[in-house]
Order: sequence, then C-alpha cells, then structure tokens
Amino acid sequence: MNGPVVVIHAGAGAGRAVLAQKARCRAALNEALLSARDALESGADATAAVQAAVRVLEDFELFNAGHGAALCSDGSAELSAALMRGSDRAAGAVAALHRTRQPIDAAAGVLESHQVLLIGDQGDRFAAEMGVEQVANDYFITDRQRDFLEDRLAGAGEAHGTVGAVCLDAGGGLAAATSTGGISGQPPGRVGDSPLIGAGTWADDSVAVSCTGDGEMFVRAAAAHSVATLVASGRDLAEACAAVLADVGSLGGEGGLIAVDAHGHATMPFVTAAMPRGMWRSGQDPVVAIGPRQPY
Ligand code: ASP
Repeated sequence: MNGPVVVIHAGAGAGRAVLAQKARCRAALNEALLSARDALESGADATAAVQAAVRVLEDFELFNAGHGAALCSDGSAELSAALMRGSDRAAGAVAALHRTRQPIDAAAGVLESHQVLLIGDQGDRFAAEMGVEQVANDYFITDRQRDFLEDRLAGAGEAHGTVGAVCLDAGGGLAAATSTGGISGQPPGRVGDSPLIGAGTWADDSVAVSCTGDGEMFVRAAAAHSVATLVASGRDLAEACAAVLADVGSLGGEGGLIAVDAHGHATMPFVTAAMPRGMWRSGQDPVVAIGPRQPY
C-alpha cells in the first residue's frame, strides 16, 4: 500500500449550512486534496502537503477555521492551528490569534523556530514578522457564524467544526495539521485540543493524526498521541482510533479523527452524524464524503 496518501477532515458534526450546501463543501474538500496532491507531485514533503490542504480549508467560509471560523461569546474570532512533522517530531502551533489570515502558515513558521506554541497578540506579531498576511478580525467573521453564535448563546445548535489533514509522502514521511476557530460561544481565551501537540494533532515516524470534536475531552484523553501509543504497541490503526474515540466518549466527549500510518493505511472514524472528509491516494482520483456512507 504505502504512500503518497492524503486524508482531510472538516470537522465532526457538520452543521446545517454544510448539510444544505453539500456540493460546495465537496468542491472545497476536493480542492484541498488536489492542492496537497499538487504539492507532493512537485516534490514537496508531507508537512508542506498538509499545510497546503489546510490553507484551502481555512479559506472556505463554511468550515470552522480561518475565514468562517466559529466565534467566541463576545463575537470575536480566535484562531488556532498546529503542524507536526513525523520524521523528527518538529512541531509548531499558534493559539488565540486575531489577525493572521492563514493560521496554519503561522504554525509552519513556529515549527521552524525553537518554540512549539505561540499565543495571542505575540503569535500574530511573530506571523507578521515572517510575512504572513495580517487582516482585521472582521475578515474571519461571517453572517452564518454570527447567526450560529446567537443560537448557541440561546442554548441551541451543534458546536463542532475544525479542519485537518494528515499525509504519508513517497519518502515515508508523515505529517499532521489542524486548524480551528474553536467552539462557537466559547469564552475568549479558551483553547481546545487542535493546537495542542499530542491532543488534537500528532505525527511521528509511524502515524499522523488530526482530531475534531469536544476539545476538552480530546485533551484529557491525550487523543492524538494515544493513537500513536496504541499503534506502537501493535494495534491495528483503525482499532487504535476506535479505542481512542471510545476513551473520549467515556469522558463525555464526541467527535472524530483522521489518521494515516507508515504503511499507508488510512482511517477517518467519527461518532457524530457527519464529518466532511476525503482522501487522495497516488494513482487514484480524490474521494470525498460528508455523511456516514463510506465512499471508499
Ligand atoms: N476540537 C475543536 C475545539 O475544541 C472543535 C472541533 O473540532 O469541533 O476547539
């Protein structure tokens, strides 16, 4: 089997807008996979490929990351992202940014630095110094997320979102990336699992994982790293992911994840009603799905 293979998700528990505009969402998923494929085919490694996929997903307004991110209770957008390279476990993450248009690019900059996680205004400043585009916070805020926040503050509506990508490249390199606006209605300053290495994002030389769902429970389960631990102990990839989602469930959380291992096995389980997702394998066309039916 082996690579290259790219797997993406756009959040467990697709909201009303995603379900009402499935064709647009499928097109965005497809574009993200093709962007990662093009990067790989022009010689980029897995880390650059997952970054390329997430850049597309951050730009798509119906997914909860970058433009169209979920909003905090005060109506502002706070963006978080992480990128991890499996070969040397180099990791970069940002949390609670307000002005960086593509948070995954800021995470990529952090990955190349000595630090692992930069937050808030200093994270934005770091990104700006690297030349990553800065925008007003309004850029991230869409009418759809404003309406959704109103529903959430009134106690209605499902909260999930987030985007992510994992990849095994032709050289055997693995990488994972995740980007999110967090959970609609979250208090400003709240950080979930997505930018936390080992919780929402992990890559080493045997597996790459990106999670989505109730962030607090994914943090408490050390979800992404737990997949790696189970795989290292000899568990099959799909079984390891199912066991971790069950552990998250035992803490009262739900969601999904995507994972790929060094053999090229890929899995994308979720316990919510839907999870926009897709996969591209070398020599094959990309496949995407939103609801429970598996197209692969
Ligand atoms: N896990 C993300 C968070 O807790 C949200 C999500 O994936 O839906 O911030």
